[in-house]
Formats: sequence, C-alpha cells, structure tokens
Amino acid sequence: MRTNRKMKLKFVIAMCLLAGLTANSSAKLNPRQVSLKGVRALTVDVVCSQDAKEAGLKEQDIRENIVKQLEETAIKIMPGQLWGTVPGRCRLKVLIKVYRPSDLKTFIYNLKVCFVQTVTLERNPEAKIDAVTWELAWLAHGSKNRLTEAVPANLKIMTDNFIRDYRTANSLSGEPSGTNARNTVSVTAPQGQIRSGIAARYKYVSSKNSQVFHSPQCRSAKRIKPENLVGYNSRDEAIQAGKRPCKVCKP
Ligand SMILES: [Zn+2]
Repeated sequence: MRTNRKMKLKFVIAMCLLAGLTANSSAKLNPRQVSLKGVRALTVDVVCSQDAKEAGLKEQDIRENIVKQLEETAIKIMPGQLWGTVPGRCRLKVLIKVYRPSDLKTFIYNLKVCFVQTVTLERNPEAKIDAVTWELAWLAHGSKNRLTEAVPANLKIMTDNFIRDYRTANSLSGEPSGTNARNTVSVTAPQGQIRSGIAARYKYVSSKNSQVFHSPQCRSAKRIKPENLVGYNSRDEAIQAGKRPCKVCKP
C-alpha cells in the first residue's frame, strides 16, 4: 500500500516536471505578454460614448461583467478611485464607441480593451509615463436590436484574450501556482485550441480587414490573426455587416 502511494507521488512529480518543461520550451512571450508579467492588481474603467449609452449600454453593468471574468484569475480588482495606489498604476481601460449610420437598423461599434501601466523610458529611467502595453481593438457591425447582447459578448472574448495572455505570461515566471492552480491548465493549450474556443462561439468568422466571411473550419479562417477575428451568429448578420461569403468554404 505504501509503495503504491510512493509510486503515485513519483508519477505526479514526473508529470509536473514534464508540464513545466513543455510550458517553458513551447512558449515564447511576446512584448504584450511580457508587459503582463507580475501584475497582481488593477482597476477596471469602462467608458461608453454618448451614442453607446443612448443605444442602451450601461458602463456599470459592463464593468461588473468584466470584473467577474477577471476574478477567475489571480488578479486583484481594486476600486477605480484607488488606481493611483495600485502597484504600477495598472488599469484595464475599456472604451466603447457606437456610431449610427443613417440606416437605423444597423450600428457600427468600436471596442477597445487597453491595459495601461506606468513605464520608464530606457534612455531616461527617471521618466515615468502611463502607457498602453497591451491592446485589443475590434470594429464590428451589428443589428440595432442585438447591440446590447453583441457588445458584452465581444468584450467577453476580448477579455478572454487578455486573461489568456496574462496566464501565459505569469505561469512562465516559475512561481508556484498555489492559489491559481487552474490558471496553469491553459498554458500549454496550443493556439489552435484557443482559436477554436473563439470560433466555437460563432457560426461564421471574418477578419476585420476583409470583406469575406468564412465557416470557422475554413483554411482561410484559420489564418486570421486572433486580434482581427470577428464573429457572426448568422449568415444574415455577416451579410448585413457588409461581408460576402467565401468562395472556398461557401458558408
Ligand atoms: Zn472560407
């Protein structure tokens, strides 16, 4: 019985070592991810344009959703008025702009999730500047009656991107995971799995720089950079957004 337990322990240790090795060898942090390393607390600010508010979007509700999402990580969320006391003055700024074209059935909206912190200049370390070190911006169209669902849904995906980069950056720092053991689970997830996570939410996808929409399985769809990916729940929605179906995957 005792040897059995020892074997089990050895096995667990071996698996941990293996997981650590693969995490270290397979991932190279990009500068955006590096900038999230060691962040322990931040504030969340949500700013809606006047048109966004008139369209029914509420800053407070959107903020609550994002805070709830971030609370699944080890990041501590501080009240907005305390941002000056947060180490590195870290904050997540969420900007929502809605434009109303003359055709009142559709909206164009611009979503930005920026991570801002105080940085120093290489040539002058005395200089301390608040800079955006991680950013994701999406421009999308949507039908008027779906705007109040589409915006939070897209912001959720954008926040997921932030959380993914945060986890990647912080699991590589080699510190024990203790309180956030589940954070390490996603570390070794290859890009493809994360993509399919995004793609799985939508029946159709497109690049924000392209006029063509695809089924998520299309080879062209898989080449779209995550930061450019936009999704649609129906063909109509994609067409209404000014996109035409791909000639290869014929979505
Ligand atoms: Zn296609």
